[in-house]
Amino acid sequence: MNQRRKPGIASRAIHAGEPRERYADSLTTPIFQTSTYVFKDSRDIEEYTKGNKPRFEYGRYGNPTELIAERRLADLEGAEDSLVFSSGMMAITTTILSLVNTGDHIVITDDSYKKTLEFCNTYLQRFGVECTVVPFGDYEALEKAIKKNTRFIFSESPTNPYLNVFDLVLLKKIADKYGVMTLIDSTIATPINQRPLEFGIDLVTHSCTKYLSGHNDILAGVVLGKSEHIGPIRSLHKSMGGLIDPHCCYLLLRGLKTFPMRVQRMNETALEVARFLESHPAVERVYYPFLESHQHYSIAREQMTGGGCVVTFIMKGDLEDAKRFMDSLEMIFIGPSFGGPETLITHPATVSYYDYTRERRYELGIIDTLFRLAVGLEDVEDIIDDLERAFDKASRK
Ligand SMILES: *Cc1c(COP(=O)(O)O)cnc(C)c1O
Repeated sequence: MNQRRKPGIASRAIHAGEPRERYADSLTTPIFQTSTYVFKDSRDIEEYTKGNKPRFEYGRYGNPTELIAERRLADLEGAEDSLVFSSGMMAITTTILSLVNTGDHIVITDDSYKKTLEFCNTYLQRFGVECTVVPFGDYEALEKAIKKNTRFIFSESPTNPYLNVFDLVLLKKIADKYGVMTLIDSTIATPINQRPLEFGIDLVTHSCTKYLSGHNDILAGVVLGKSEHIGPIRSLHKSMGGLIDPHCCYLLLRGLKTFPMRVQRMNETALEVARFLESHPAVERVYYPFLESHQHYSIAREQMTGGGCVVTFIMKGDLEDAKRFMDSLEMIFIGPSFGGPETLITHPATVSYYDYTRERRYELGIIDTLFRLAVGLEDVEDIIDDLERAFDKASRK
């Protein structure tokens, strides 16, 4: 018998999760722009309440466009189930809230997304959930931090801005030893470059605002994992109400169709840009997980299949040089986020950490000439030309 091959990721990003028979013969996914769903009659209600007929009832409990996005994302990540949200933070906070009770303890790595850390450290503590922040990459400290009441370990990987890579094999080993759950914010990795569920990680979150929707035009988030884990999150989600708007969800589905080729292209462009930066005399250091010089290069090579679009570098010189460089860019825009078509650059010292003292910033590794480049889909030559011109101008005081 001829064994049928499972379709590749490029095909699944276009077709997975959607019935072959199309609503009103429409090729593209309809946007069900409705807040409510009607019953035909009392029999119809009965069939629904008895659980004989799965259907939609009210917008906050789910929407058909959203269901297709959830099935497609679950397919891409290799998950049993998934849940889409109005933003990445909504996915993270709803997931965490569904897991903890007063008196619980959680462990999070210090290199995680700033707002996730703030949520765990400030807001959760208010409800009597204790949080230990451990240095990223210190597996001994991580193991020591685990207590009897530890509910889960949360980390981002790779991290922002230094692109540190978590050893997921080691994380799983430590978590299993103590019977704690594991959560990974895999936004920077994408389901193309790393699939934490295959390492036994329990739950994976993504900000779909980044690569998955991929056009810098919407906010969305997702959590993925086993049905037994997603179930309670779905239940809380219905109360929290952080639903994605159906139109926004359509844009996510549209973006997903080109997601694999966009990431592939970004992997290639970013590696080339990283190599260019590494060889440029105006650059002190480059951080990119697929550069041999990165401290986690070997883990990245073993556990990831591509380095992604984020390239971080430190320029030579001082804050004024950094500003001159930034001000000289012509094509590259200054702005946060990554994973979209436009190459963007951020200067953490004057944006995300503007309210920190220089001393505190330096403790966190946010030095004056640090830049995070989010490589887009432009021609690699144009990205490199723009950087080169700006370095040139910055050196002419
Ligand atoms: C952007 C981002 C988030 C937050 O996602 P939003 O969609 O902006 O809410 C969380 N984690 C990481 C790693 C991110 O890059």
